Amino acid sequence: MITITRLNIDEVLRYMGCPPDKADEALRGQAEACAREVLAVIRPRWSWRALSITLEAEGVRLEGGLLLPGADLRAHLGGCERAAVFCATLGAETDALIRRAEQLDMVRALALDCCASAAVEGVCDQIELQLQGKFPGCSFPFRYSPGYGDLPLDVQSGLLELLDAPRRVGLCATANHLLTPRKSVTAILGVASGEIEQSQKSCLGCPAQESCQYRKAGGHCGIS
Ligand code: SF4
Repeated sequence: MITITRLNIDEVLRYMGCPPDKADEALRGQAEACAREVLAVIRPRWSWRALSITLEAEGVRLEGGLLLPGADLRAHLGGCERAAVFCATLGAETDALIRRAEQLDMVRALALDCCASAAVEGVCDQIELQLQGKFPGCSFPFRYSPGYGDLPLDVQSGLLELLDAPRRVGLCATANHLLTPRKSVTAILGVASGEIEQSQKSCLGCPAQESCQYRKAGGHCGIS
């Protein structure tokens, strides 16, 4: 059972494209109000499986045969023998809240969307901690999702099928490989029985990438 009771408002502001120290009171207040609205409607659900993995020339082969193609995930999972594959969703009510706001006020809709992104990240952080607890003495590179590096989004359907996600948590993928409900994640958490070198996540998967003021200025927010 995953419960999220608060959101990091500085993170929400960064996702909105505003460095937290540049946010005026009105914007911070709006982000806080939207965080309360999002927390009231989210219904986190998730599903996972532990699978052995094989690193192949074309990518990473999951137990059962699904190939996750590309060089980046293969390099990321160097030293791992297994992976905990999981999916998580905030549920359809969160999408509906954002859609309703889009008809009325685009700034509020953006704030709600960014709160929901922070919430789904928070859900995944909790899942990751729970999963790490199931592999005592192991090491873990950061969780990796379709769309990071050269891992294509078209693996979403295969991952959801492996996790029986449509039936277990109501999570599907569209023909364009977008998750629905939209505020959802699939992820691969590598599991190594030995020590591994940790790499930085940096901007991979950050919802702020398009609008990020730090990146536009050639810098970084410092959150990895
Ligand atoms: S610098 Fe990167 S990680 Fe930080 S807010 Fe911008 S896009 Fe996100």
